[in-house]
Amino acid sequence: MRDLLPYLKLYKKHWFGLSLGMLLALLTLFASIGLLTLSGWFLSAAAVAGLTIARETFNYMLPGAFVRGFAMGRTAGRWGERVVSHNATFKLLTDLRIFFFSKLAPLIPGRVSNLRDADILNRLVADISAMDHVYLRLVTPMVVGSAGIIGLTALLSWFDAKLGLILGAILITLLLLWPIVFYKLGKRNGAELTSNKATLRVATLDWLQGYSELTLFGAEERYRNAIFDVQQRLLTNQRFNAHFAGIAQALLILANGWTIALMLWLAADGVGGQSPNPMIALVVFATMASVEILMPIAGAFQHLGQTITSARRLNDIILSTPDVQFPSQSTEHESSYSIEYKDVSFQYPDGNTNALSEVNLFIPAGQKIAILGQTGSGKSTLLQLLNRYWDVQKGHIQIAGQPITKWSESQLRQAITVVSQRVDILNGTLKDNLLMASPHATDQDLHQALSKVGLSKLIDEQGLESWLGDGGRQLSGGEKRRIGIARALLHNGPILLLDEPTEGLDKQTERQIMQLFEQHFENKTVVFITHRLVELSKMDAICLIEQGRIVEYGSHVDLLANKRRYFELNQTLN
Ligand code: ATP
Ligand code: MG
Repeated sequence: MRDLLPYLKLYKKHWFGLSLGMLLALLTLFASIGLLTLSGWFLSAAAVAGLTIARETFNYMLPGAFVRGFAMGRTAGRWGERVVSHNATFKLLTDLRIFFFSKLAPLIPGRVSNLRDADILNRLVADISAMDHVYLRLVTPMVVGSAGIIGLTALLSWFDAKLGLILGAILITLLLLWPIVFYKLGKRNGAELTSNKATLRVATLDWLQGYSELTLFGAEERYRNAIFDVQQRLLTNQRFNAHFAGIAQALLILANGWTIALMLWLAADGVGGQSPNPMIALVVFATMASVEILMPIAGAFQHLGQTITSARRLNDIILSTPDVQFPSQSTEHESSYSIEYKDVSFQYPDGNTNALSEVNLFIPAGQKIAILGQTGSGKSTLLQLLNRYWDVQKGHIQIAGQPITKWSESQLRQAITVVSQRVDILNGTLKDNLLMASPHATDQDLHQALSKVGLSKLIDEQGLESWLGDGGRQLSGGEKRRIGIARALLHNGPILLLDEPTEGLDKQTERQIMQLFEQHFENKTVVFITHRLVELSKMDAICLIEQGRIVEYGSHVDLLANKRRYFELNQTLN
């Protein structure tokens, strides 16, 4: 139950809509009970009056008007209650989604790296939607139910205290018993249902995303069957839920029936010490109407297990603190952008060896350094640490004389331009995909950047508005890479990090791109990761890295003269 607390607190912000919804629900309830109770009494009293002399004096008009008023009030009240409380709940869910997203974003990539995309999506969509149960199905019926019971007890007690209190006691017992019993019975099924729903989404997205690969390797059927399996389990959960709701309601109606019999028996001798009269009908019909108070509760509490499981899954994210936290204030720093790694050691959370060990590296402002090393040696990690994708466990990193932990996020992002090893293309227009690097760039700037990286042909047909990514044109590996480079040209920060920017390009394009970089390198601090030993003589320094350690450092000429690893590499590759 404690897991629901953060969601109950949201009441504060939407108190007006939620309270108004409850008030309308209460008025509707009173109208329903009033309608049945008054009609019961009215019919019997009218019948009795018809048989006696009272038919002359009996007032048919006033009760008749009230019956009509209650009937209209019930319809209007129910409509108003639905509109108001759903409106408030949907607003609450909107806030919750935004809040969840704002908590989720800083956790990427650290905390949530063990969660699948589909699982996170499921939390954002289904688990948050499940939170509407909290108000619509749990809090409102309980509050309205309690108030309704108090009201009905008071009404009956006015006529006959004993009958009123007996009915009140029975109703309160049912109000407390049903939730406890049906929560306990439905708890396991609810938790299973939530997790099966998540698994179904993950399995379906897996199958959808990997469809072509799965078909090529003949594994498509196996993955499809996994979807059917979990779907079957989910259907079983839902069937159980439906049966269960039916049983809860049937038992409640049965309990109500027995209560009616009991109240009829107790009232038969007369209500409030009078001889038997139409008031008996009033008591019986009031008891009959009391089922309206309890009905919303009958089926609700079997969902509580489901709601609590969803709340727990949301809390996993909402209550985590991000590994990397940026200060909100930007820092003063030198105007020249040097980079310094001091005794840096780093291990990935799920890695078992250090990805980097005791790295010491100073890159003066304006220098261009190439980083070489075998695959998996820690080159990309070196750049990710500089971007604070992760934080180092030992040592520290400085940019422009200030530890990067003092840089605000926007300040750091502005200072560093990256062409990462894997370029992601967003599902959007070509323009969207470029503007993300420089929101204020003009169309002319975008055209220029594209033509510099040799992608002018992308602009031919629909111009900058042509769609890329999943929903549009698919790009080749080399084209994606060049989009990455165009983004870097547009962003134009004083530090440039290049992670194998020419991989996948043919020799001629590679040469063009390298020339482009040379013009662009002016006055920038550049870290260039590469596998290829081309044009390294133009670099100020070369750094060889092996298994997370720097093994050789110096200029191209010096390293060749040393005749060690760099020299050997040159020998084997040339
Ligand atoms: P490549 O030339 O193939 O790009 P690299 O030198 O860039 O290789 P890194 O990506 O820095 O290598 O990886 C260094 C080591 O850290 C590798 O052993 C890799 O498996 C591991 N590693 C990289 N990313 C993660 C991660 N997110 N979680 C755990 N381990 C990781
Ligand atoms: Mg890499």
